[in-house]
Amino acid sequence: LPPEQFHQTTQTVTIEGDDAHHLARVMRAEVGDKVICSNGIDREVLVRLTELDKGCVTAEIVEELSMDAEAAVQVWIAQSLPKGDKMETIIQKGTEIGAARFLPFLSERTIVQYDAKKEAKRTERWQKIAKEAAEQAHRNRVPQVESVYTWKQLMQRAKEADIAWICYEKEDGQQLKPAIQQAQAAGQLTAGKQVLIAVGPEGGFTEQEIAQAEAAGFRSVSLGARILRTETAAMVGLTCLFYETGE
Ligand code: SAM
Repeated sequence: LPPEQFHQTTQTVTIEGDDAHHLARVMRAEVGDKVICSNGIDREVLVRLTELDKGCVTAEIVEELSMDAEAAVQVWIAQSLPKGDKMETIIQKGTEIGAARFLPFLSERTIVQYDAKKEAKRTERWQKIAKEAAEQAHRNRVPQVESVYTWKQLMQRAKEADIAWICYEKEDGQQLKPAIQQAQAAGQLTAGKQVLIAVGPEGGFTEQEIAQAEAAGFRSVSLGARILRTETAAMVGLTCLFYETGE
């Protein structure tokens, strides 16, 4: 639940909006049913439903829960906007695997038409997909989907991350696995560190973009000898990182 929908006293929780509708109408929950509520940030509780209305569900807290399904390392997926509904798949699967943040961006070979007027609605939809995927994955936190970045903005934003890798299929010097291991040895993958993984569009990054990214502090990495689709690359990067860090 977003924090504004999570009003609670010490003993009760009030669920409103879409979540109340989902519980009452879609799940057909009944008084007495137990569900887990999360504020999407730092608190989960087991509650027993006491009243259901289509706009509002109230519940009493049965137990404070202390499950932690979050990865210690915060991974940001920076994804050049792909065609069709691929961004939705990337957000859904990336959330299940454990990404902390999504940064869609525009790059030189981005094919999809960017429409600033539709931007807010689309980001809202992507954020909803992240929330649903986080719920189904039993995550404590809902990853944030940020507004679409220009290439220049992404270069700036990447400076806030502790590590920034840019996935480049023509990279022949640096594979992801040794890059991860080096970062681990240097203590750069400890709890709370932020790792940005950038993936290009269907047409890939230009050589100039790779040079600009490296100048901005990115390290170019290969994900192996095979060329992956743009929607596969981020998932491979994320999974390899969590495999190596044991998350
Ligand atoms: N147009 C390129 C080509 O045909 O050679 C492929 C681009 S690929 C479909 C899209 C993005 O996925 C790339 O920009 C890169 O970020 C990532 N990617 C795919 N395979 C990769 C690999 N083996 N190593 C690193 N990055 C890869």
